[in-house]
Amino acid sequence: MTLQPVRGMKDILPPESLRWSALEATFRACAAAHGYSEIRTPILEKTELFSRGVGEATDIVEKEMYTFTDRSGDSLTLRPEGTAAVVRSVLSGRSEIGEWPARLYYIGQMFRHERPQKGRLRQFHQLGAELFGTDAPHADAEVIAFLYRFLSQAGLTGVSLQINTLGDPECRPGYNQALADFLAGRDEMLCDDCRRRRLTNPLRVLDCKSEKCIAATADAPSILDMLCDGCRSHFETVESALRGLAVPFERNPRMVRGLDYYRRTTFEFVIPGMGAQNTVAAGGRYDGLAEMLGSRDRIPAIGFAIGVERLLMLTETDTPPVASSDVFIVASSAKFLPEAFLWRMELAEKGVRADIDYECRSMKSQFRRADRSGASVVVVFGEAEWERGMVGYRDMAKGQQEELAVDDAKRRLESLSTGG
Ligand code: ATP
Ligand code: MG
Repeated sequence: MTLQPVRGMKDILPPESLRWSALEATFRACAAAHGYSEIRTPILEKTELFSRGVGEATDIVEKEMYTFTDRSGDSLTLRPEGTAAVVRSVLSGRSEIGEWPARLYYIGQMFRHERPQKGRLRQFHQLGAELFGTDAPHADAEVIAFLYRFLSQAGLTGVSLQINTLGDPECRPGYNQALADFLAGRDEMLCDDCRRRRLTNPLRVLDCKSEKCIAATADAPSILDMLCDGCRSHFETVESALRGLAVPFERNPRMVRGLDYYRRTTFEFVIPGMGAQNTVAAGGRYDGLAEMLGSRDRIPAIGFAIGVERLLMLTETDTPPVASSDVFIVASSAKFLPEAFLWRMELAEKGVRADIDYECRSMKSQFRRADRSGASVVVVFGEAEWERGMVGYRDMAKGQQEELAVDDAKRRLESLSTGG
């Protein structure tokens, strides 16, 4: 029996992998244009980073992490998300980062032990960005607009941007209490998980995907009615800055996000009618996270993460063909193989993709391969021509074949390179 990949983890092969690299290139360009530089953190972190950073009472930490003890007895976890590690790295690499604000982006795989289904994997990939060192509402608008623009460039249509605010330590406790009181009266209408959550983390009940809980909380108190002055004016400035950039959005006071570190602005890009896997990208402000992870300074920050698998699923286009050869060299006998091989490798160095048949099958079979390869030029090494220092040169588009001196043929082939 051949070995299979781990359940919920996928290989990405050509031609599909070409869509991935194209998407990543678009993201890098968009990030660079907005002033973001790449950060790469390890895939493994100490488990404590996530239990402290993401929050004990979250789905991720409660039931989704890939955690194991390594040979030194340390508890390690495959990263389930990017932000906690980026914050850890920014705190320890403070001196390299320079002046605030710092703008960073990342690309990489994440691991969550969830039930695999369409748009939900155990190894999945995120494109993310974080902006550190400012709590200005314009920073929120910048990050949201950057994400909005990238999703448009990636070809995503029909997406709706929902925004909310979760308040801050001044007004959130009051809202938490009001929500807890409301939920206490609805206990018997909630799912088993939410009966527990309403005591440990009432906000999380608003995030529950079960029909029961959605109905039970339809008339729950809204955080927007209970904001302190600071949070209200912050939220309103974010909204007016987004309007100024012509980024369409709607308020969704039920959107609380699944992680504990959020504060004030949160947002999600949702595709209506996609079921439970309808969020393509999400993020929010997390002004308290650095301190939770041991920083002496408060470092306000905001960021987002995009689910690459979901984005590619939603922008499904014809997969681009694997880049075809530029040239196919047909050798009339095996004695030409060393020369054909040299040409192939020299052309590759010049940026021209030339193909040959290592098995030196019949001329007929080589011509068939040449056709299939999509090559725009076929070069033929034949006995008689070679004696005269010539090769056959066939322009496939024009369907014309001529004889060229070896040096002329090489020069023409080299000019096929996209650079030349
Ligand atoms: P969901 O509510 O769908 O479980 P989440 O709130 O857990 O999402 P985040 O932690 O905000 O997701 O991650 C950001 C994005 O990463 C999501 O919007 C989604 O596109 C993607 N994502 C999250 N979990 C998975 C997964 N298991 N498989 C594929 N993509 C995922
Ligand atoms: Mg989740």
